[in-house]
Amino acid sequence: MTTRLVVLIGTLFILSSTAIYAEENPRWMQDVIYLASDELEGRQTGSEGAKRSRHFIIERFRELDIAPLAALPSYTQPFTLNNRRDKPVSGVNVVGVNAGREAPFIVLTAHYDHLGRKGRRIFNGADDNASGVAAMLEIAARTTQQDMQCNWAFLASDAEEHGLLGAKAFVSGHYIGVESIFGNLNLDMLSQPGGRHELLVSGVNSHTQFGVLAQNIESATGVRMTNTDEKQRVGRYPGGKDRTKVSDHAVFAEEGIPFLFLGVGRHNYYHTPRDTASRINVGFYTQMVEASWQYAKGLDALCGANLQANISDQPASVSDDYTTPSSRRRSLR
Ligand SMILES: [Zn+2]
Repeated sequence: MTTRLVVLIGTLFILSSTAIYAEENPRWMQDVIYLASDELEGRQTGSEGAKRSRHFIIERFRELDIAPLAALPSYTQPFTLNNRRDKPVSGVNVVGVNAGREAPFIVLTAHYDHLGRKGRRIFNGADDNASGVAAMLEIAARTTQQDMQCNWAFLASDAEEHGLLGAKAFVSGHYIGVESIFGNLNLDMLSQPGGRHELLVSGVNSHTQFGVLAQNIESATGVRMTNTDEKQRVGRYPGGKDRTKVSDHAVFAEEGIPFLFLGVGRHNYYHTPRDTASRINVGFYTQMVEASWQYAKGLDALCGANLQANISDQPASVSDDYTTPSSRRRSLR
């Protein structure tokens, strides 16, 4: 066969197997397959791939009736901030809302940027963090189908990999005032079971209600969860690595906003070109999406029950007001 024919047959095979794969998958997995495709070239901040990712997320927001903020009518927030080496980085956040209630906001965050490509190697970032963005889109869809207590904002942040810059730009932009934000739910890496097959949950110990919530979700879903607030070392994380600082929720925490952070933690494919959609365990990922939705619903229910108290009377200390009994702590692994 000529080389051209071999290439053609190969291409047809890849196209048809991708199509079958996509149809059989739940929506969140289909979204990951696109966001982590080679076409988006690893979604590096400032790249064409990042731009195509934004178009996709905005299109999905429109489909789901997720509206733009009045101040950001095109769903996008461009920004320039300095990275850790004091070099300016220009990025673009994508923000949509399900709002209009007499209530504060819960901001759901998932960064869409990743490492881009190095030469011919593409860092697809399927788990990190196409998986979080796709879970966010699913949760956004569900908030439009159910009665929610809180207003919801969905922030697909850019330049997280450069030092949480998108989250910083969003919070400091005051498009939603800090005093109007009841909480932050951050999703970063949800689809790789690693060796542990468990969900790491951070921020649980900051509020008694969060401890109860995590406990209830663990028993209701049967998903293994580790409360990282109670562990010095989690899986492959280096000893002493503070999980409160590792992703976008840190920016909200600094403003005294309560947060919960869900993610699977580091694994063998983390920040390698092998973090691809085909390596995702769809069954495990689906469990994580469902658990994330439970956390979203649980946070939303707290918003309705404790509106005044949680905003003005509990200034969101993330460290020292934990009062859950030790028996409860032990059972949440
Ligand atoms: Zn990440």
